[in-house]
Amino acid sequence: MTEIPFIYDLDISDLRQILADLGEPSYRADQIWQGLYQQYWQMPDEFTTLSKTLRENLGNILRFNALRPVQYLVSSDGQTRKTLFELPDKRVIEAVLMKYDPSTHKGQGRRTLCISSQAGCAMGCVFCATGQMGFKRNLTSGEIVAQVMYYARMLADQGERVTNVVLMGMGEPFHNYDNTMAAIDRLNDPDGYNFGARRFTISTVGLVPKIRRFADEKRQVNLAISLHAADDEERSNLMPVNQKHNISKLLEACRYYVDQTGRRVTFEWALIAGVNDTEEVARRLASRLKGLMCHVNAIPLNPTTGFHGQATSRQSADKFKETLEQAGIPCTIRMRRGIDIQAGCGQLAGSYLSL
Ligand code: SAH
Ligand code: SF4
Repeated sequence: MTEIPFIYDLDISDLRQILADLGEPSYRADQIWQGLYQQYWQMPDEFTTLSKTLRENLGNILRFNALRPVQYLVSSDGQTRKTLFELPDKRVIEAVLMKYDPSTHKGQGRRTLCISSQAGCAMGCVFCATGQMGFKRNLTSGEIVAQVMYYARMLADQGERVTNVVLMGMGEPFHNYDNTMAAIDRLNDPDGYNFGARRFTISTVGLVPKIRRFADEKRQVNLAISLHAADDEERSNLMPVNQKHNISKLLEACRYYVDQTGRRVTFEWALIAGVNDTEEVARRLASRLKGLMCHVNAIPLNPTTGFHGQATSRQSADKFKETLEQAGIPCTIRMRRGIDIQAGCGQLAGSYLSL
C-alpha cells in the first residue's frame, strides 16, 4: 500500500497530477491550493468550494493532520506563544510566535515566527538544548510549511498576519537544505500563501559548502550565521562543527555570499559570562569582521541544563556592543523572549521531552 501524501508536502503540480488521476478537472487543484494557503483551511470538511463528493473523499486521498499540537504555552506577558507538535512517528518539534507591539517595541507590530527544520540536531553545539538532544530526523518540506500555516490561521482569526519567519527553532536548516528550500518556495508561491522571500531568515551553524550554494542561488532570503566565538579553539569548544569548517573558511564563505548577493550577513552571538562577552573578545571579533558587510546580533545565553555557562550581565552586553560599534561593526543586543515558557533560543523541546 502506498502512503497517503501529506497535503503540505505537495507542490501545485503534484496536486494537479493527483486530481487528474482521479478524473477531476484541473481547477479543483487550484481550489484546494487556495483553500489551503489563502483561506488557511486545515481539514477536508472546510473545503466548501469543492463538490460534496470530492470533499468527502479528500481525507482518503490526502493526509491533513501530520502535525498534532500537543502543548500550547503563552508567556506571562502574552507576547510569546509556543506550540509543541507531535509528528506521526511521535517525534516532537516546536514553533514559537513572538509578537512585537508597536507601543512597546520598535518592531512596528511584527509577528515573527520561529520554526523548526529538523527533529533534534546533529551539530552538537554544547550550549544548545536541541544539540544536547541529538539528531532524530529531517522534517519534510510539508512539516516545515505546516508550522507556518498553523500560526497563519491562528493569527488570521485575530485579523493579523505572520510578518517574518526565522528558521531558528530546532535543527540545522542547511543540514536539511532541499526540504527547507522547498518549504520556502512553496510558501513563496504568489498563487498560494505569497510570503515574500525577504521575510524569511535562515540561521546556520556555518556549513560552508551550503553557504556557498545558497550564495550561488542568489535567493532573497536573509542569512544569519551562528558565530559565538572569534578564535578557533574557543569556537571548537562550543561548536564541534568548527573542527570541520573553521572561522577563516566560514568568513570567506560569508564574503563570497555578500559578493554574490549584495546582501549583508547577520552574525549571531550568544553572550556567555566570562567566555565570549569581554572587551578583548569584542575587539578580536571586530578585527575579523572588518570590511565584511554585516551586523552582529548578540543575545544573552539562555542557560540550559546540559551546559554550565551563564548569561552575560546587561552591563557586559552593553560594553560588548559599544566595543564592536567603536570598531565599526553594527551590533544589536536582543532581548530574551519567552524564557518562562522555555521558548528562548536553544531551549526548545528539551523540557517536554524530558517529562
Ligand atoms: N541550527 C541553526 C538554527 C537554530 S538555533 C543555528 O545554529 O544557527 C538558533 C540560534 O539560537 C543559533 O544562533 C544558536 O546558536 C542559538 N542558540 C542555541 N542555544 C542557545 C542558547 N542556549 N542561548 C542562546 N542562543 C542559543
Ligand atoms: Fe543545532 Fe543550531 Fe543547536 Fe547548534 S545551535 S545544536 S546547529 S540547533
